Amino acid sequence: MDSNNHLFPTYAQPEITFREGKGVYLYDKEGTAYLDFTSGIAVNALGHAHPHLVEALKTQADRLWHTANLFRIEGQEHLAERLCEATFADRVFFTNSGTEALECAFKTARRYHYINGNPERINILSFEGAFHGRTLAAIAAGGQAKYLEGYGPKTPGFISLPFGDHDALKAAIDYQTAAILIEPIQGEGGVRSVPHQCLRGLRELCDENGILLIYDEVQTGVGRTGRFFAHEWAGENGEAAPDIMAIAKGIGGGFPVGACLAREHVAEAMTPGSHGTTFGGNPLAMAVGNAVLDVILEEEFLRSVQTKSLVLSQILAELVDTYPDLLEEVRGKGFLIGLKARVPNTDLVAAFRDKGLLTVGAGDNVVRLLPPLIVSEDDMRQARDKMVSALDEYRTRNEDKG
Ligand SMILES: *Cc1c(COP(=O)(O)O)cnc(C)c1O
Repeated sequence: MDSNNHLFPTYAQPEITFREGKGVYLYDKEGTAYLDFTSGIAVNALGHAHPHLVEALKTQADRLWHTANLFRIEGQEHLAERLCEATFADRVFFTNSGTEALECAFKTARRYHYINGNPERINILSFEGAFHGRTLAAIAAGGQAKYLEGYGPKTPGFISLPFGDHDALKAAIDYQTAAILIEPIQGEGGVRSVPHQCLRGLRELCDENGILLIYDEVQTGVGRTGRFFAHEWAGENGEAAPDIMAIAKGIGGGFPVGACLAREHVAEAMTPGSHGTTFGGNPLAMAVGNAVLDVILEEEFLRSVQTKSLVLSQILAELVDTYPDLLEEVRGKGFLIGLKARVPNTDLVAAFRDKGLLTVGAGDNVVRLLPPLIVSEDDMRQARDKMVSALDEYRTRNEDKG
């Protein structure tokens, strides 16, 4: 029996279908509960069926779904104002996904140089291990062979450089460079953090060379690391602020929402007709996005994320100490945490899942833990017990074999 055979075979999925979610828990068809430490890949920032989000979506559903961007959309203007108030940005373009937000960022960067008399500045420099989505431009920006294979010539104008190699970066900047693109913490790439001084250094390098700094905070943003955006950790006063930033995932709390944020002088280049979308920023999406911000930007919310996430880091550090044969180290920040494994990460994701804990694999043999930001200390202790029991069994099984 394969009821999956009318779908593109793009996803390798375990045999689980969820029917319901509440808070940190997902329930399958039999009613079995799973602790969800995937949050739909950093999307369900406030867990499943958060009452404030459900209410916002239902209220909007009774009122108005869609007008396209033929007319002004109140929710967009409100959400954009709030995003700008809380960040470096002055202007926002709404999309439906992360990769579309990146696409807008690439177009904005090139268009900025074009409008300013430098049409030759088209190249976007990015870093090995990066992930920026799956459009043809995004896979070129990510530069990973496994995502480029079979899709014809790589879209020109994207140059992938070794991660952390300052000399290679400086050498790569020339008269054609438009922008530097980076995730403050590589998510899919294995939860690899960029040191704070490097982000500040990139800001300076961009200023010196008249090029733009683009952050991909699709995964790291909207409270995931304990700050509204991860780059804020690298400077309280905008020392590491970008010119353009792509966001998505958490901002919709489970509704598809993305956005490209930019400073005024950059966004200015995107004149009427230069870009557009039918669905992006529709009233349903904006109602949910605004509801997410109601919670995340509440006083104390992000502080509570910072405090709670220390508990998880502590739990994981203890696991690494207890199982040095299976685990190597803990990486990341806030609730974007990676557990680098010494055995195949896919084995551990499966072993945890068998115990009722959902996690996600990442590059560099990492198991990612991305609990909803509303996770409680008790939830984290339950997750620990599940991991301990999975790791004990895994070890015993392997000793029997070996
Ligand atoms: C998920 C992700 C994307 C792509 O977002 P989609 O919504 O899947 O298109 C881009 N960049 C980063 C850093 C991501 O984590």
